[in-house]
Amino acid sequence: MPSPLGHTLAGLAVAELFQYREGRVRRQAMLMANAADLDMLPGVLTRRHPGAAHGRVSHSFGAALVAGVLAGGLAKARGRRFGPRFLQATAAYGSHVALDYFGKEPEDGLPVWWPVSERRHASTRRWFKTILSHSKKHGFWKGLLNRSNVEALAREGAVTVPAFLLARAIGKRLRR
Ligand SMILES: [Zn+2]
Repeated sequence: MPSPLGHTLAGLAVAELFQYREGRVRRQAMLMANAADLDMLPGVLTRRHPGAAHGRVSHSFGAALVAGVLAGGLAKARGRRFGPRFLQATAAYGSHVALDYFGKEPEDGLPVWWPVSERRHASTRRWFKTILSHSKKHGFWKGLLNRSNVEALAREGAVTVPAFLLARAIGKRLRR
């Protein structure tokens, strides 16, 4: 799976595409792009393998729609329009599902079409590598420093940085 860095860049790309001007909304897009991984939190807190719970129903377009409705509802409660915020949040959250789809180990896959279908899917071509900590030997933070992780980050950047720049260019055109 891509790292939080890759997901955050994807969220920023969505923000650019929708031309969020306010910093607050930009931060929300970054949060939304990482929200699906909150399912890893129980594993992290109980110090079990953080990836164990990863890839449940939070990684689906159904969950992205729920996130969009929540964000739109919040906007409406603050006297703003439902539609734009719904679209922005759904797209930012959905970017996470899409990125993970292209970086998931195919053996278990993700239930991307939940709740319509429980079937798990993963791209046969993996664009992204999962960043792993060889913590047993070197401790968590030092365990992150290895060649495979550098390569994983480079691959992630090779996809998300151009996507961000493209989204920025498109967003600027739309503004004109
Ligand atoms: Zn994820």
